[in-house]
Amino acid sequence: MKENYINNIEDIWTNALSQIKDTLPQGDYDRWFSHMSFGGEKDGKITLIVPSQFVKDKLVDSYLGIIENTLSEFAGRNCPVVFEIDKSKRSASFSHANASESPSEPVKKERKNHPLLNPAYTFDSFVMGGNSNFAYSSALAIAKNPGSAYNPCLIYGGVGLGKTHLLQSIGNYVYKNTDLSEEKIMYVTAENFMNEFMDALKDGKTRQFKNKYRNVSILLIDDIQILQKSEATQNELFSTFNDLYETGRQLVFTCDRPAEELKNISERLMSRFTRGLNADIQPPDYETRVAIIKSKCNERKFEMNPEVVDFIATNVSNNVRTLESCITKLIAYSELLHREISLDIAKEQLKQLVSTCNDSSGITINMIIETVASYYNIQAQELKGKSKNQSVILPRQIAMYLCRNLTDFSTTEIGMEFGGKEHTTVMYNVKKIEAMMKATDSDIPNVISKLSNTIRLKKSGH
Ligand code: ADP
Ligand code: MG
Repeated sequence: MKENYINNIEDIWTNALSQIKDTLPQGDYDRWFSHMSFGGEKDGKITLIVPSQFVKDKLVDSYLGIIENTLSEFAGRNCPVVFEIDKSKRSASFSHANASESPSEPVKKERKNHPLLNPAYTFDSFVMGGNSNFAYSSALAIAKNPGSAYNPCLIYGGVGLGKTHLLQSIGNYVYKNTDLSEEKIMYVTAENFMNEFMDALKDGKTRQFKNKYRNVSILLIDDIQILQKSEATQNELFSTFNDLYETGRQLVFTCDRPAEELKNISERLMSRFTRGLNADIQPPDYETRVAIIKSKCNERKFEMNPEVVDFIATNVSNNVRTLESCITKLIAYSELLHREISLDIAKEQLKQLVSTCNDSSGITINMIIETVASYYNIQAQELKGKSKNQSVILPRQIAMYLCRNLTDFSTTEIGMEFGGKEHTTVMYNVKKIEAMMKATDSDIPNVISKLSNTIRLKKSGH
């Protein structure tokens, strides 16, 4: 027991904390203790309020003994401690936001739109279906309690399925419901992150870059697959990640494929992506497509003939962005020409958009080669070459298979485009993939469907 015995339990805590501060390395103290507050005493237990689940876990794992012992020393009795996560101030407290940004109640006042976020991307405007249930619920839970349960989070899925929409919904929600300043809620595409970092390197401004990204409360990075291109950016993101994560700041990423399918990502960064919650979005089923179309028409106060809704939902299945394009086109047509949209008009007007999803014309062999090469992060030239390297053989077979299935070119024509290969070689490779398409434990059908989707989109100019 300390000689200067203190009666008031809060004073005891203040003294204990100051002793802990003296004994721990400054960095550790700042990181884990500086945002803690005293929450009272109940049933002989002392409650300490901490900013996030992450901080709580760390304290329980590493510091509970020190805290209880020090407290007991000052109090002259046993002082068990419990931690509580600060819910009332969660918006700011998980984030190291300064005091003026710490509302005691979640703030529900009207704010301007966040300059980095599309205001249309909200949870309310997102139509949830079985395909997106998990990703939607995860994103909403994060928005309501950032820095806590699901950190980090990776949302992945094919093109046009709503990843960016969900990611920005998190930002919009936090921005609307808290007092966090614009700079604390950071949305950035991985491409811009990379370019900004490269510029900072070039201009000797890495310190400003680090300051910008390490002061945020919530970091939303879109399309991380692009990082496959830059090792330097990966290293920088790795440090940023650690810094933010360790202090309970929220990180959310999106990717066009599961993290494990990324190539040329350092193992340590990969382990960060896969460490937290991984939530996928699949293409919507028919009912969800109908619901999305209706919702988009509602938003624009446009009543769409049910037959037309059915026509679009039946014919556009892989991509919500294409669904939207169909609706936009029909609404524009109707408004400009003051005409009701009949099924015939819809079929005529959407001929091209719908054919994008259904038929093969207009896709070139090179388009396929480029897409497959970029997916596997190799050079198009390697696919056309003779390399027997495993990392090239499978992509080459897949590219040939796609050429056969998405275009009307003969195996001879395809062989020509692949660096003058025999048509028998093309046939052999196509057959290899056909066999894999039938194997039950193969991931190839998934890859093929994703690539086909991307190629069709490219064709339609997206
Ligand atoms: P991704 O980032 O996955 O490529 P986006 O988030 O950009 O896809 O979505 C493409 C478009 O489709 C956006 O305009 C988005 O608002 C819309 N969208 C996607 N999924 C849904 C959904 N479930 N409900 C409503 N709109 C959606
Ligand atoms: Mg996107």
